[in-house]
Amino acid sequence: DSAAADSQVDSVCPYCGVGCQLTYHIKDDEILHVSGRDGPSNHNRLCVKGRFGFDYPRHASRLTRPLIRKPGAPKGVDPSFDPADPSSHFREASWDEALEVAAEGLKGLKAAHGPNALAGFGSAKCSNEEAWLFQKLVRTGFGSNHVDHCTRLCHASSVAALMECIGSGAVTASFMQAAEADVVILTGCNPAVNHPVAATFFKQAAKRGTKIIILDPKGQALGAYAHQTLSFTPGSDVSLFNAMLNVIVSEELYDADYIREHTEGFEALKEHVRHLTPEAMAESCGVPAEDIRAVAREYATAERAMIFWGMGISQHVHGTDNARCLISLALACGHTGRPGTGLHPLRGQNNVQGASDAGLIPMVLPDYQPVGDAQVRAAFEELWNTDLDDQPGLTVVEIMDAIAAGTIKGMYIQGENPAMSDPDLDHARAALAKLEHLVVQDLFVTETAQFADVILPASAWPEKDGSVTNTNRQVQLGRQAVPLPGDARPDWWIIQEIAKRFGLPWDYAHPREVFAEMKQGMASLDHISWERLEREASVTYPCPADDAPGADVVFGDAFPTASGRARFSPTLPLPPDEQIDRDYPTVLTTGRQLEHWHTGSMTRRSRVLDALEPEAAASVAPGELRRLGLEAGDWMQITTRRGSITLKVRVDPLMAEGMVFMPFCYAEAAANMLTNPALDPFGKIPEFKYAACRLTAA
Ligand code: SF4
Repeated sequence: DSAAADSQVDSVCPYCGVGCQLTYHIKDDEILHVSGRDGPSNHNRLCVKGRFGFDYPRHASRLTRPLIRKPGAPKGVDPSFDPADPSSHFREASWDEALEVAAEGLKGLKAAHGPNALAGFGSAKCSNEEAWLFQKLVRTGFGSNHVDHCTRLCHASSVAALMECIGSGAVTASFMQAAEADVVILTGCNPAVNHPVAATFFKQAAKRGTKIIILDPKGQALGAYAHQTLSFTPGSDVSLFNAMLNVIVSEELYDADYIREHTEGFEALKEHVRHLTPEAMAESCGVPAEDIRAVAREYATAERAMIFWGMGISQHVHGTDNARCLISLALACGHTGRPGTGLHPLRGQNNVQGASDAGLIPMVLPDYQPVGDAQVRAAFEELWNTDLDDQPGLTVVEIMDAIAAGTIKGMYIQGENPAMSDPDLDHARAALAKLEHLVVQDLFVTETAQFADVILPASAWPEKDGSVTNTNRQVQLGRQAVPLPGDARPDWWIIQEIAKRFGLPWDYAHPREVFAEMKQGMASLDHISWERLEREASVTYPCPADDAPGADVVFGDAFPTASGRARFSPTLPLPPDEQIDRDYPTVLTTGRQLEHWHTGSMTRRSRVLDALEPEAAASVAPGELRRLGLEAGDWMQITTRRGSITLKVRVDPLMAEGMVFMPFCYAEAAANMLTNPALDPFGKIPEFKYAACRLTAA
């Protein structure tokens, strides 16, 4: 209880991109409990993860010593392996020895095969400073641009479309702006589960009269607050959005003044959507043409309207096209740049925005500056006093393919878990096993760490200082609340030690020194200093002055494109990569749960969260359950062209007929054994949201 606490430390939640501010209540160096703080994105509210998911750092299987693989110990995910006692496969080592073995292995591969034989995955769970250091190490120490992170599995397609159309990959307005909107479209997102405190802002908006419109194949809790819900056929999103654009064009509902002053390419879009009428698209979308017309009219005729989207939009082979369509809808109606208007891809991990800004992306340097641009490269070469590779690096799934092909031979993975999070896990795990040298830096012996040659015990979020950037572009400070256990070390310190062994003259004493360097390469951090973050707790970028609040809504005057105008990018309906057929008649979609985050490495080691949601289960609609002859709680087998998984089945009235949902956080029923690795050609994001499958009684 709070009366027993001997200290309090203010910080930020380590889970989702909402970025709730919280306070750790501490006694004898242990977190007793967590309370919400009055941050701009949470107003004292927390969801169950932020409130109860604080004890994972003290789990019995926490790594506290560096580990080195024993000679001959097999690599792979072994269900009998005990992460709390890794001695069957690993021996403990000193930091000096572990760092030496880690770095020498990578350096040896570089010497033998060149810089492109190495790659690194950084982490959106780590701080901005750690992301900056990680990508700097890969680019200046390894010598390649093969550095990526979980944005590739999340919003890479959204960012590709936003960069192309409006010149910036971040949101144009915060989710607090929903309070000012007359209409809010939520599509391909499930905020009550995945961004629960953001969902409270949508509920508050609905209470004040904002019309919530939900466009999604399956239902969700926010449906109870919706003015209208359109449940369309999975994978038909581009058809639906083009039909909405057709209505806006044919009924002349567009904002001609806005289009003339702020955009280019509208005439081509008009021509493009001419034949994509609601009547022509209705059958493939599975919704009546009149409903499509009604939704298009509501959005277009609103004075102020916003669009929010999530992985249901981005994780498709047409993910970039989906986002292009949403951007076209907003541009056509002049719904950006004013309070209560905007485009907002809801960011997943707590620091996926910041890690992307800081350069954990293979084709761009920090602040999304292309590696192929000689001027950009020259600026970073001067800042870092080294030459940089001018070739874009490979992305997450491409790196796995390059390992399988034998071209990438060594990796450094910090805080990511591709042995659970990559599509088609058999393929991904075979690739990890093929690596000649793998260094994993994490809190636990994760599924990925079970392939490692060296494991470096890292820092949990309450054990270090660092800044993070949430979905609203708000930069906030996490502060060390409790000491590191055993020999575990802050991630920034470990990265620096590896860098030193690559001969890099790094000498950072604290993350604030890294932040100061970041400001030299990232204009987005202008007028945001570490001291200011300590003082104000949250500053939004872009920020015009040292004493000004940052811009909650951007691009009212001009877009950050060469012409200052936004660009319409027409798209054609593209089917999912694989089709349902007689053998695989059901659509498998995957996602998160309220209680568990991503691959479950933290939340499944949190006592309360694990108790609240203790086992893997798939969800189907009541009719689907009847058709299978099953009852809720029975065992069911899900089979795709890549494999089979057996788990319990639950009935969910919000599920669409013909679909099954699987959470992807359970190692014992790893959903990504089944998912399709086919990539969106622009964002290089896999199609997690659509795999043809067969359901049978197990
Ligand atoms: Fe944490 Fe997100 Fe929940 Fe807020 S909404 S407490 S940031 S998980």
